[in-house]
Amino acid sequence: MLKVISKISIDKVASTYVGYVRNNKKDLIEFVDSTPPPESDKKKKWVIIVSSQIGCPLRCRFCDASSYFRGNLRKEEILSQVNHILGLYPAINPNRIEKFKIQFARMGEPSLNPEVIDAMLTIREKYPQYIPCIATTAPLGSERFFERLLEIKDHFADFQLQFSVNSTDSALRDKIMPFKKQSLKWISRYSERFYSSGKRKVVLNFALSCDSEIDYDVIGSYFNPKICIIKLTPVNPTRNAVASGFNVTEDYNRVYSSLKTHSENLIRRGFQSIISIGDMRENTVLSNCGQIANILATAS
Ligand code: SF4
Repeated sequence: MLKVISKISIDKVASTYVGYVRNNKKDLIEFVDSTPPPESDKKKKWVIIVSSQIGCPLRCRFCDASSYFRGNLRKEEILSQVNHILGLYPAINPNRIEKFKIQFARMGEPSLNPEVIDAMLTIREKYPQYIPCIATTAPLGSERFFERLLEIKDHFADFQLQFSVNSTDSALRDKIMPFKKQSLKWISRYSERFYSSGKRKVVLNFALSCDSEIDYDVIGSYFNPKICIIKLTPVNPTRNAVASGFNVTEDYNRVYSSLKTHSENLIRRGFQSIISIGDMRENTVLSNCGQIANILATAS
């Protein structure tokens, strides 16, 4: 069902796998086995990042996952990515790990695939303490998915929901994410419905280039700091990001200092803010989302 054809590793941090499904070499997907620092220990924190679609139909300007789109993955095809990685470590029991997270955040928009919900629930039967993570742009047409999410979220001890907001300027949001999507107002209202006291806050992710601006007043007017947390990440130098003219850099200090300024301003307005830069070596080994599959798809 899933045939793995390539693997790129950053020692002790992450391995990105590329494989194809349905016996068709064009149906390429990526998935990731990650052991994030500072733990860098699978027995403490293990993160598996899976694709939910074959490519992506949404074409965010900074992402290489949308150079093709060949449909939704079926539940079994999502599970096979998890099982492939778990099968490489038979001595580790995910039920004994302090934090075992599965992120539906690699190729594809998870809210466009109803079988993501089925996959989440099936994984829970075997690993009841795992933490699912949905990273979504909230495209229009996925309302049913979000209602289902509200129905099932409390089946899990912990659940991470992340909205890719990316800009507070609606014209710029449309330029970066050129498809119909929910407004900031909708995301704010949904976050209020999703959040339960004592549980994890809803994450609002902003992928920013060095000269990106954020209107902190807009954030403050829509979002409640008791419910939402702001995550700041750099736009990575993918093919699409470079072609779209994003001001990207691989200079860690420059990336950090531009995100830190935003973070400090958000903290002053009462928001919790996380700077998430990841490992800059991902740029060198081309393991950002969609990069390897994009290259293989172009070459075939
Ligand atoms: S960021 Fe997500 S939704 Fe946007 S093109 Fe990439 S995979 Fe698709």
